[in-house]
Amino acid sequence: MPVRLRITLLFGCIVLFILLLVCGSVYYFSRTERTRDTRLRLVNRAITRARLLAHPTYFDAEQLRILDSSTMMALQDKSLQAYNYKGEKVYSYSEEPEDTLAVDNKLLDEARIKGTVYFRIGKKEAVAYHHVDSNMRVVVVAAAYDEMGLKKLHELENILLISFITGSIVAFAAGYIFSGRLLRPIKKIADDIQVISAQELNRRIDGGDANDEWRYLSETINQLLNRLQESFDMQRRFIANASHELSTPLTSISSQLEVSLSRDREADKYRTVMQSVYQDVRHLGKLTQTLLEFAQASGDPGGLTIQPVRIDEILLEMPADVNKLNPEYTVSLAFGDMPPEEEALIVVGNNELLSLAVRNIVINACKYSPDHKANVHLEVADRQLVISISDKGVGIPEADLKYIFQPFYRVNHTGPELGFGLGLSLAHRIVKLHKGTIEVQSTPGEGSLFTLRLPAAQF
Ligand code: ADP
Repeated sequence: MPVRLRITLLFGCIVLFILLLVCGSVYYFSRTERTRDTRLRLVNRAITRARLLAHPTYFDAEQLRILDSSTMMALQDKSLQAYNYKGEKVYSYSEEPEDTLAVDNKLLDEARIKGTVYFRIGKKEAVAYHHVDSNMRVVVVAAAYDEMGLKKLHELENILLISFITGSIVAFAAGYIFSGRLLRPIKKIADDIQVISAQELNRRIDGGDANDEWRYLSETINQLLNRLQESFDMQRRFIANASHELSTPLTSISSQLEVSLSRDREADKYRTVMQSVYQDVRHLGKLTQTLLEFAQASGDPGGLTIQPVRIDEILLEMPADVNKLNPEYTVSLAFGDMPPEEEALIVVGNNELLSLAVRNIVINACKYSPDHKANVHLEVADRQLVISISDKGVGIPEADLKYIFQPFYRVNHTGPELGFGLGLSLAHRIVKLHKGTIEVQSTPGEGSLFTLRLPAAQF
């Protein structure tokens, strides 16, 4: 069901319910009040008549009838009868030609027990009132038709019914218009979003001037678009850089092969070309491997093997690992105050990726320092594992610091040690994937310090 229809129905039903409650209560109280009023009049009349009947010396029945007929009362078709304690009718008066009150002994007895009994005779309302005093015991039955009261009640009924129907129609119409106005901004936002495609990610939604929920929604969507655009741009840059990195060795391979195939050469020349091609192919292999690792670290952690990983064990493997890569590289390990429980050294994550992140930073430390030495330190602080990797190398200029975690960013160092510019950004992604942080402090000419903080597993 469309939201507009749902709001209309909800709004209409609420108003309908309120109207029903108000009209119902007005009708109920008016009806009760009319009945109460009629009964009071009848009882009062019965009491007066009983008191007069108790003094037959002053008023005989004929005088009372004259009195009854001259009494003005809003009630119609009044009848009045009185019965003595033997059940004999001692007085009767009726405005109608025939006395229509059929009173039986059972009713008289009930009135004698209860004092007052209300009942109906046809369209008339009636009361049987038992009066006792020193002169006589009498049951006076008074009946009348409240024509005016019932007419007024009926009129009220009609007014309430019309008000209820009109009110309901107005409520549904107002609900429909109101919900349309309420949902208009959503439609506008949806229309705006439809125009935005991957090629037009720079477009934004107009949230309007009012400081309301729709504006908040538009702003939130705009923020999402900002993030999407950022990641699209990053992706685009990444693809462009990766293609460039891949095409450089491929171009070099193809041109070398082309030149050497252009005419016959001596075996030595072919060997030289093959060696150079082999270098390029190795470079390509390394780059492809790094790109694969990058894709793995950037993807959904759900596909990775997540298990408890001992960080100290990863660090202990570093010296041999790095040395295997280049015998000139050395790693010096140091552990701060270690907690007695092993759990404090455990991080929940992927062993290979965590090892890769640390290795990349350690290799950089060795690669970009003349002594090719990395100092690795581990300590536990505030349920966090803090790994510091420092070197006494060339350092990183202040201006480059904020870019070094971006893919393919390389600081223009002089020297033979050129990488792909992916190591740090890969480490950064892996650490982020493990809900950790990575910071760098560096002074050109003095050295660099990389600090990795990883949350310890909660057991
Ligand atoms: P690369 O493969 O080029 O080393 P990285 O992403 O690992 O790529 O590093 C990015 C850049 O940051 C490097 O090109 C290097 O200039 C600089 N860098 C990284 N680590 C260090 C370090 N320990 N000392 C000096 N410069 C560093």
